[in-house]
Amino acid sequence: MNFETAAVHAGSIKDSTGATHAPVYQSASFAYEKAGEIESVFQGKKFGYVYSRISNPTVTAFELRMNALEGGIGAIATSSGMSAIATTAFTLAENGSEIVASKSLFGGTYLFFKEIMESSGVKVIYADFNSVDDIEKSISERTRFLFLESISNPKLEIYDLKKISETARKYNLPLVVDNTVTTPYLWRAKDLGADIIIHSATKYITGNGTAVGGVLIDTGNYKWNSHPSTKIKSQLGKAGPFAFIAAARSKVYQHLGFAPAPQNVFFHQLGLETLALRMERHCSNALKLAEFFKEQPGIKSVNYPGLNDNRYRQTGLRQFGDRYGGLLTVELDCREKCFDLIDNLKYAKNLANIGDTKTLIIHPESTIYSNCGDDEKSNAGVNSRLLRISVGIEYINDIIEDFSSALEKI
Ligand SMILES: *Cc1c(COP(=O)(O)O)cnc(C)c1O
Repeated sequence: MNFETAAVHAGSIKDSTGATHAPVYQSASFAYEKAGEIESVFQGKKFGYVYSRISNPTVTAFELRMNALEGGIGAIATSSGMSAIATTAFTLAENGSEIVASKSLFGGTYLFFKEIMESSGVKVIYADFNSVDDIEKSISERTRFLFLESISNPKLEIYDLKKISETARKYNLPLVVDNTVTTPYLWRAKDLGADIIIHSATKYITGNGTAVGGVLIDTGNYKWNSHPSTKIKSQLGKAGPFAFIAAARSKVYQHLGFAPAPQNVFFHQLGLETLALRMERHCSNALKLAEFFKEQPGIKSVNYPGLNDNRYRQTGLRQFGDRYGGLLTVELDCREKCFDLIDNLKYAKNLANIGDTKTLIIHPESTIYSNCGDDEKSNAGVNSRLLRISVGIEYINDIIEDFSSALEKI
């Protein structure tokens, strides 16, 4: 199936009613007629649903569709993007392990590594993922995986995934890619060597800011029989090539209670159907807005990977087919100008989210990164003069007009 078709049809549930959407199975548990039957399900001898903390049919439908879109061998939907990252990290790493992560990360991911993984005895080493040398220098025999973002949020760096996955292969390490900002529509990260793909489904997948959620997908590229994780080793006999997904679900996700609410997953699934259309518009709108900002004297710099002079344009062109996502950042003279600009906007919403149909704006330094030190901010590309904009799917001239009149007032 082609992408647009799979986004609408893949993994559709067929039931006796002919419903065209997977129903919301708002049920905590699932009953069986016979004691022997539930015994078989519990022991994994027979497929079935038991308890929605482990799995739920509404959630399965979304997992099947996301799995199809990423070309995976298995997926797990989670209560948030953060719990998808946490499930992955706790499945691969344990006390004494190390993770090699990109220096340029989403603030929530960075704080999770710092405040949760570090206190679980896992050391996170931050490397410049623009440099394979720097990655190699950070790898040790304790490294359990490499972690990067497809387009880093908010610094908007784009790395050569094929090169990095070759490095991961060389050291026999799984490569985990947070694909939130690009989605499977802009590229199939699996084909360039990604092993685990993570999404915050809150963002472009759902697309309208209705529900927080996440998903992780095993692309099937990595052969788990050589990975040192004890959780994965325990599943190899039973699950073979699916040992990562089996370990993630039965050894982490179900214990930590990371299952999403079925109602939220219904919103993800609904949004997913129009992902292709929305992403085209997000990308073309973002490029037009970035070009407009280029001409504004009040804007000191514009960072958008689709601009001709951007360092990452060639990599983006090659990997994402001349589309560069819906995020851009601008720098103004000072923090006060940033605040004034926000205060004078009519349509763009001042909030902490991305990937909405509506244009969103935030001053990251005073919000998402307010608890971070100077080094942490600088790794994330954040300073007091920076604004992040998630360009929506509105008629672009209205958005340009909104920014144009706000700029005139400050
Ligand atoms: C938002 C975001 C996350 C976290 O997802 P939540 O759904 O908010 O938990 C992770 N990675 C990136 C790149 C994000 O933008």
